[in-house]
Amino acid sequence: MSDSPEQVEFDVDVVIVGAGGGGLAAALAVVDSGRSVIVLEKLDRPGGNSALSTGSIPAAGSRLQIEAGVVDSPAQMAADLIAQSGAHEAEGLTRRLAETSAELVNWLMDQHGVRLALITEYKHVGHTVNRLHAPSSRRGSDLVDDLVQACKKSGIDILTSSPVVDLLIEENKVVGVIVEGDRVARYEIRAHSVILAANGFAANKELMGKWLPEVDSIEYFGAHGSTGEALVWGLKLGGYLANQRAYQGYAAVAYPHGSILSWTTVEKGAILVDRTGKRLGDETIGYSGFVADLLTGEPPFFVVYDARIKSIAMIEEEFADLAEMGGAHEYDTLEDLAAYFAIDFTALSETVGIYNTAARLEVEDLFKRKDFDMAPLQAPFVASRVTPGVFHTQGGLAVDLDGRVLRLEGDPIPGLYAIGGVAVGISGAEGGRGYSSGNGLLCAIGLGRLAGLAASNES
Ligand SMILES: Cc1cc2nc3c(=O)[nH]c(=O)nc-3n(C[C@H](O)[C@H](O)[C@H](O)COP(=O)(O)OP(=O)(O)OC[C@H]3O[C@@H](n4cnc5c(N)ncnc54)[C@H](O)[C@@H]3O)c2cc1C
Repeated sequence: MSDSPEQVEFDVDVVIVGAGGGGLAAALAVVDSGRSVIVLEKLDRPGGNSALSTGSIPAAGSRLQIEAGVVDSPAQMAADLIAQSGAHEAEGLTRRLAETSAELVNWLMDQHGVRLALITEYKHVGHTVNRLHAPSSRRGSDLVDDLVQACKKSGIDILTSSPVVDLLIEENKVVGVIVEGDRVARYEIRAHSVILAANGFAANKELMGKWLPEVDSIEYFGAHGSTGEALVWGLKLGGYLANQRAYQGYAAVAYPHGSILSWTTVEKGAILVDRTGKRLGDETIGYSGFVADLLTGEPPFFVVYDARIKSIAMIEEEFADLAEMGGAHEYDTLEDLAAYFAIDFTALSETVGIYNTAARLEVEDLFKRKDFDMAPLQAPFVASRVTPGVFHTQGGLAVDLDGRVLRLEGDPIPGLYAIGGVAVGISGAEGGRGYSSGNGLLCAIGLGRLAGLAASNES
């Protein structure tokens, strides 16, 4: 080993920090390019937030869409995402991820055996056509399992319980990482480039208070590895945060079960009410955007729907589990439902009555909701108690279209890439309203693949 960077012995071509969906996809792209890679994961198993997600990845023009006769294009997808997000600091990245989205899901399925199905029962927030691709179980853990299998087949080492504690820097270039943890003595791995795939900072109270105080008080429901240290390393090297005040929230985390109450319920006609039986806004703005509306009401909150809608949501395993655990009871009358949850019955009955009139298109909805699908709601009624949550942060290090971390001056930090929650998101400049379904995994897995390919060309 020599002190001169030109003569450094590299242990691997690329080091990846974090074994979530993004890191695993990046690793596959590196080995596909014939280069060596290692994935370091600080927790005792791979998965991160990706394993907690529904595993939904948006793509325009995929093989599955063509087979299903869905007409779509990257331009339409980018237009949809930007219509939802509004203007922001990474619109070029939105377009790039849309343009490469079909080859992304085709590559995952055809080259690496990842099992995905096109979701046709619902489009979800921000999409005008069916373009979400997910495991048929709608469990992110299945997606992660398939990615881990693919990595194994490709001979990729994933080292768990291996926290990266800092970057190795020589002459302003990132040349590797330092690993140290309870179960592992301090050591270095040298590489031509490092991809930060460690997700955002939602699990770090201090950074949330500093960078995203708006939602600091809302409970975080993601994986606890998202503690933001990778963002701090990037900032120390001259990187900067973009779209810093954006986040993905979820207005309907089932309480006390802690699982996601499927938003399909809302898209099929459900409403959200608070303790007083009142609605708080147009629920169809999306599960992330509606968090802010919910916070104007009085907790606890409830999603109110009916047995027909429940039967559609039952196709999703997580919802079926919730129903099994008693989180989606049916009630013969609205009065029974109100009595069980101690919601003011008179107010609830008035709310549902007015909403149903709007759903029959007899009057304009109180909150100008336009999409009612299976509503008006009818007996037997169903209600699930929910609470709002933060799922992940959307602000992150500014990157170029291949994930290279940029300095404020616009030049890349040599050897450093960021993807997923470490990198800038594509969900608007601030708040939760700009989030379209699948933006999280698109930035993780989609940008992960692009960064893996680009990093493979570094020497
Ligand atoms: C409940 C829930 C549902 C969601 N549903 C969806 C969905 O359906 N579609 C979608 O697009 N998005 C969804 N999201 C968001 C999505 O899960 C994330 O955007 C995405 O998983 C981020 O992937 P990632 O690879 O960047 O991070 P992660 O999957 O979180 O992986 C990062 C990994 O890095 C590890 N790590 C962190 N720091 C270090 C370190 N210093 N050293 C080593 N390892 C480290 C972490 O432990 C973690 O395992 C959901 C989120 C939640 C919480």
